[in-house]
Amino acid sequence: MTKKEKRTEEKNFITADYLIIGSGIAGLRAAIELSNSGQKVVLVTKTEIEHSNTFYAQGGAAAVDPSRVEDEKDSFESHAQDTLKAGAGLCNAEVVERFSEKAHDGIEFLINQGVEFTENPDDEYPYELHQEGGHAKPRIYCVGDFTGKAIEETLAKVVRADLNINILEYHTAINLITKKWLDKDQNEDDKCYGAYVLDRQNKSVVTIKAGKTFLATGGAGRVFQYTSNPENATGDGIAMAHRADVDIANMEFFQFHPSVLYEANLEGDAKKRFLITEALRGEKMGGILTLEKDSLEDFVLNYDVRGSHATRDVVAKAIDVEIKAKGLKHVWLNVTTKATCKSKEYIKSNFPEIYKTCLEKGIDISKDPIPVVPAAHYMCGGIVVDENSETSIRDLYAIGEVAHTGLMGANRLASNSLTEAALYGKIAIEHALANHDEEKFSEVKIPGWCASSKERIADVATMNQFWDTTRTVMTNLCGIDRNEQRLKLAVATLTALVDVSTDIYYNFFPTHEIIELRNLALTAKIIAESALWRKESRGCHQRNDYPERNDDEYMIASNVD
Ligand SMILES: Cc1cc2nc3c(=O)[nH]c(=O)nc-3n(C[C@H](O)[C@H](O)[C@H](O)COP(=O)(O)OP(=O)(O)OC[C@H]3O[C@@H](n4cnc5c(N)ncnc54)[C@H](O)[C@@H]3O)c2cc1C
Repeated sequence: MTKKEKRTEEKNFITADYLIIGSGIAGLRAAIELSNSGQKVVLVTKTEIEHSNTFYAQGGAAAVDPSRVEDEKDSFESHAQDTLKAGAGLCNAEVVERFSEKAHDGIEFLINQGVEFTENPDDEYPYELHQEGGHAKPRIYCVGDFTGKAIEETLAKVVRADLNINILEYHTAINLITKKWLDKDQNEDDKCYGAYVLDRQNKSVVTIKAGKTFLATGGAGRVFQYTSNPENATGDGIAMAHRADVDIANMEFFQFHPSVLYEANLEGDAKKRFLITEALRGEKMGGILTLEKDSLEDFVLNYDVRGSHATRDVVAKAIDVEIKAKGLKHVWLNVTTKATCKSKEYIKSNFPEIYKTCLEKGIDISKDPIPVVPAAHYMCGGIVVDENSETSIRDLYAIGEVAHTGLMGANRLASNSLTEAALYGKIAIEHALANHDEEKFSEVKIPGWCASSKERIADVATMNQFWDTTRTVMTNLCGIDRNEQRLKLAVATLTALVDVSTDIYYNFFPTHEIIELRNLALTAKIIAESALWRKESRGCHQRNDYPERNDDEYMIASNVD
């Protein structure tokens, strides 16, 4: 198939000073901050607002309350040190320092919007703070074990009631509109003018011209076969940015969560797996990972002195190695009253969602160990942003999981992502408000969308095959255990999949599924190429042919061309 001529310009236009793409915690905070400053904003999102990675977060949000520093209960330095340790030498120390000092701003914002964090009536400090793997102190704010749901629903309610925010649900952003794309010959610094967006219900493409555009499109867990991420996490922001020549880095660092519920009947299936929060392995709860159902032996101690309390990269790799070496289907997470000395009531009241979901599947977690496997969970790399969350293209910001701020390094410390997304949602807006040039922006002429074809794709079976192949290749060849041979095969196969999905995109009217497939394949290829490039093992990038860390200068950052 070859590219067809572009034709028939669509006349569907919206002009906005501010365009936000994505409605997780990052996008919603940005929208609320803009509205609170009296600005009007267009917020587009692929499905309903609530549909996001944010919704599924269980554990909570990490932050040190300045009042606890005064009381010497915790310190910003301690949070920073834990973050740096998890990041395995690739964090930006200044970013980490700033984050640890300001993270609590995100918690205050959420409380002000109406999020009811779990309280602790027995302590001087009003909130119950959890301690998760890798944290030296309890500093995780939670709402039971459904923190993300509480955050997302609260913010969505605020946004829905706000007349300054024009919400476009079931709208999928296709491509960014940039100065260089409009005029290929000009050599000035590039600038973003908005995006082309598919209106899924009306099956037409809207041109949204915007003074400032914010990519808040979240992660890309769906590029892997087994993931904790919901359907929308297809790496759209990464792919759109890459096509617009925006800098992207550290994509090889994809964090695998050590424990999602293993369900035999989901094998090979595209469904999201149920996450078993790390808080169950945390200090407070004390759950342990075992190889046999009735054992109380923490096998992770063979890999790290912290045993099952170690950071996720260590734990996920330990599970992967054992599963592969012993031909197991899964390992066991034991949080029973016998293993943890916690009462059934304690388990039920602290982890109600997990208790209920597991019970529905025939597992009473107070009595039965939980079968768990690792699954793709969090994208540590992303679109490179500066301290204001602006990308390498002016007037384009990236916030939340899609951004690479320098905080996560080679591995994310548990519960830092919700707070990072909330914090940068505000930082980006402060910078955008201070730098908006309305006059210049209104002069720019943007062409309407020209569909290459009006024809609808009929061959759904082939499309599904491309989806499945992309995801299987990623899991088998570019998962936790990587090496050159596997990665070369992954890159070759994914290059072919990018070509074929691009052909489909140019030969048919862009449906939501075609847009996602094209983005999924490109994001997968970027991850595989980055993993092939990084000849070392560090954080959540583990290569069995380069098992050691390499601290040479050139390994410190990997930018995707
Ligand atoms: C199961 C699970 C548990 C987690 N637990 C925790 C935790 O306890 N603590 C923690 O800190 N982090 C946790 N995380 C990670 C954290 O939830 C995410 O990193 C964070 O919520 C990301 O927020 P976000 O706003 O960047 O993106 P998201 O919340 O993923 O939102 C992205 C939005 O962009 C939209 N979108 C994507 N592409 C397009 C497009 N082309 N056009 C229009 N809209 C688009 C999506 O529909 C969605 O609305 C967890 C993640 C998962 C999946």
